[in-house]
Amino acid sequence: MIISLESLLTIASIFFGASWGSFLNVVISRVPEGLSVVSPPSRCPKCGNGIKFYDNIPVLSWIILRGKCRHCKTSISIQYPIIELLGALMGLALYKEFDLSFEYFYYFVFVFGGIALAYIDLKTWLVPISIVVIMASIGLIIPLIFFIVDIPFYITLKESLLGLALGAGIISFIILFYKYVRKMDALGWGDAYVLGMIGLYIGNKGVLVSLFLATLQASIIGIGMILINKKSTVPYDDVNENDPIKNKAALPFVPFLVIAGFEYLFFGEKLINWYLNFMKSIT
Ligand SMILES: [Zn+2]
Repeated sequence: MIISLESLLTIASIFFGASWGSFLNVVISRVPEGLSVVSPPSRCPKCGNGIKFYDNIPVLSWIILRGKCRHCKTSISIQYPIIELLGALMGLALYKEFDLSFEYFYYFVFVFGGIALAYIDLKTWLVPISIVVIMASIGLIIPLIFFIVDIPFYITLKESLLGLALGAGIISFIILFYKYVRKMDALGWGDAYVLGMIGLYIGNKGVLVSLFLATLQASIIGIGMILINKKSTVPYDDVNENDPIKNKAALPFVPFLVIAGFEYLFFGEKLINWYLNFMKSIT
């Protein structure tokens, strides 16, 4: 049997994604607590037994152990295999989009870092600045290097810098407008850092499309939550009593920004073409 290089790389990208998905689980559970992501090695939170490599195979180990620790039988959250599966899918999607290229690894950082930010914000209402800084540094340095050596890259340094300025600028403007004109808190500074960082990867056009998609999707989900009357739970007491989000269906915005950024990355051109054709057909 001869396996083509194509299928070999496809399989490799799935495994590569799943393994980094495994690492994402560590990032997601440790970074909000301020713990190191490298040491100590993974261990059961209940009995403290180290997790051996053969029990640490993405998705499969969780299924084989039926979601329980090998030693003390404590349940292991289904979050672990889900994030690993998501990692596998994203590894594959990135390979289909970028083949084996510099772009593959560049957008791998964007996608996996983005998943970590989205998940942490959803669970804890925190935006870890360390993750944003690492992502922004890589997001800027790679287009800069390609610009210096004068080799074409998926995103140009100019688009990248304009994306940063526009992303951080628009959200900052919204925050200040609401704070001083409407006297309320709309978005957080974390949202401004995140959209600026996203802009480095998808440029100024990407920022505008993503912000539109994020707002649209957050509105749909927000209205849905009000309709089913699901009151928000804001776990942190630093959210002050007069804060409007206390009484409305509060949603963290970073997950919407990240998902919209992914939508633009994978479907941006198709979305824009569809929209232009649609506008042409109705005029
Ligand atoms: Zn255990």
